[in-house]
Amino acid sequence: MRKVITKFIETLPRALIAGAVLACGSAAQVWAMPITKQLVVNVVTVCNDAGLNCASQGPAGNTFYEAETDKIWAQAGIDISFVNAGTLNSSAFLTGASSVTDFTGPLGGTGTTMYLTSDLLCSACTLYGEAYLNAGGLVINMGAVNAFNAGVGRLDTIAHELGHNLGIGHPADAQYLMAAGSLRNIPSNLGEICPDPDAASCFDWLPADQIAIALASDLLVDFSPVPEPMGLALVAVALFGLGLARRRRA
Ligand SMILES: [Zn+2]
Repeated sequence: MRKVITKFIETLPRALIAGAVLACGSAAQVWAMPITKQLVVNVVTVCNDAGLNCASQGPAGNTFYEAETDKIWAQAGIDISFVNAGTLNSSAFLTGASSVTDFTGPLGGTGTTMYLTSDLLCSACTLYGEAYLNAGGLVINMGAVNAFNAGVGRLDTIAHELGHNLGIGHPADAQYLMAAGSLRNIPSNLGEICPDPDAASCFDWLPADQIAIALASDLLVDFSPVPEPMGLALVAVALFGLGLARRRRA
């Protein structure tokens, strides 16, 4: 992460850096936060000039690593909603960009915009993604993210970069979601992501002070977790069950 993030590191409060060792299921941690907020992520997929060879959107059946991203941000009571927002047809940007600043300036308003590319240039390094701090706008190197860990994928990169948009910098604890990529423990499956009561330890943890920062973000909108169609579906199931019961009695 570049300029903006570096600036934030210098102002990190000491208490945040001295992170405690974390074990899942510890009594101090409240795992089940009710979902009260939503972050809408508009996804722009970069393709070549002809609109072909578009960047990957992630694993089949789990586009944008949504399962991992949602589990991670549920710790803060935040639902992440990905919305396809079309393509950007540019061969240069597909494999030749090096920063989120190539794609967009920092975005205001609610929600954020995520650009998916096939590669990001980085001198003697791998740049998995980059995001604005406390503003919308991020880019993800889906080629590198998908290839990580022998193709398992770097499961928490999208969740991490979204955390920067929500205002969190780089704490110095490897088990925190927001730890820098060079330090962070990367989960290799959903079960290694906090919270998981069965795990001896878990990764991608969001402690209370970082949750508070995220929940104060202007990018979020209020969210009601039970949409009306689901309520109607449940009513239909209940009526169907009632019908069965009546038939059995007859
Ligand atoms: Zn970062």
